[in-house]
Amino acid sequence: MDKKRTRRLGNKYLIIIVLLAINFYSCKNNQNKTEQELKEKIAKVEEPKEVFEFGFKLNDYIVKRDTVKAGESFGKVLEQNKIGYPKIFYIAEETKKTYDIARYFQKGKPYTLLCAKDSLESPEAFIYQPTKEEYIVINFKDSIHAYRSRKPIKYVEKSITGIVTSSISETIDELGVSPVLTNKLADEIYAWTIDFNRLQKGDRFKVIYTDKYIDDTIYTGVHDVKAAYFEHNNEPFYAFRFQTDSVKGIVDYFSEEAKNLRRAFLKSPIQFGRISSRYNLKRRIAYYGYKVRPHKGTDFAAPIGTPIRATANGTVTESTRRGGNGKYVKIRHNATYETQYLHMSRRNVKVGQFVKQGDVIGYVGMTGNTGGPHVCYRFWKNGRQVDPFREKLPEAKPISDSLKVKYLDFIKPIKYQLDNIFFEPDPTDNIELETPVIKQAES
Ligand SMILES: [Zn+2]
Repeated sequence: MDKKRTRRLGNKYLIIIVLLAINFYSCKNNQNKTEQELKEKIAKVEEPKEVFEFGFKLNDYIVKRDTVKAGESFGKVLEQNKIGYPKIFYIAEETKKTYDIARYFQKGKPYTLLCAKDSLESPEAFIYQPTKEEYIVINFKDSIHAYRSRKPIKYVEKSITGIVTSSISETIDELGVSPVLTNKLADEIYAWTIDFNRLQKGDRFKVIYTDKYIDDTIYTGVHDVKAAYFEHNNEPFYAFRFQTDSVKGIVDYFSEEAKNLRRAFLKSPIQFGRISSRYNLKRRIAYYGYKVRPHKGTDFAAPIGTPIRATANGTVTESTRRGGNGKYVKIRHNATYETQYLHMSRRNVKVGQFVKQGDVIGYVGMTGNTGGPHVCYRFWKNGRQVDPFREKLPEAKPISDSLKVKYLDFIKPIKYQLDNIFFEPDPTDNIELETPVIKQAES
């Protein structure tokens, strides 16, 4: 509980509001001051005397908000709000030109009526919100007219730091951040360079990302990750988002040395699971009287039915059931590499089929020689089985030389920003706290 709170407070220290201020934190003492300044600035924004929404000054109206109920039509809502039928018909006809509101009127969607501040409270405008971002205004006041518009979208840059205790998803959850961030880190950014099934206790990370808000207040989730730093086994992994093709809008993540973080192969054929047995040519097994029985695959234990992903693009060369392998799939990726996935409960691809990296090719099972549900992942290089974790695997698409200079320039300030985010001291090992900590005796 204490730990969580401390971390959340830490979060607030590090919130950077792009539109308001970009701050680099150079030392811990400055953070209190900065936080105070930020709070003051936010307070100014959040307490306007005049409230504007949908382009109206709401203070001038009686504002009635509701959502469309089951079986409720546009006409019915207007009728309930003191608009008579000839006018309703006219309104419906007029609005067809811009947005056929009667047709797209949907249960559960919010609407707002702005009514005159007089004894009649007659409606002067009707606002319908088909999506969170979009709204339709029907103005009744003078001439009837309708138009559609969008709420202003704001991206707020934030940063977090975290120390992995059990899993990345739990750590991010403890920080109070959306699981979308976990997926972005595990599937999008580091899926090729870090095996999230093998995180070590004490692995830690910093992330600079943007949250998306509509109209300043409605949170719609993590938009994207600008940069990240992941310390795995004491080894740093930087990731910077960079657009390599502005025409096609191609974005990739690269290291501080401009190396593409994507590799031709994923680190693991299953998203979350654990390695139960590694590639080991000198493995001795009790069952075989401790004789050497080499294990030329990597076993990933996971519940039966867990999707198995192709670790790279390629063509399926085998999809069958045979002996100890059980049900398995083999894929040829190019002249050099092949991968094979054993003990499936069900195969999902046919021989000759082209698969893309990440495609589900089957499901974890226990067919063939196996003591428990797992996928035995076999990696072939030039016809020989090797340990993929010891191979230097090819980069997906290296950055071009001309772009590299631009990239290195681009990431300079971002890396500086990232390097100046500090890990919070772990509250459980408060060694150098200025104020003495009185430890409560445990009862
Ligand atoms: Zn195996």
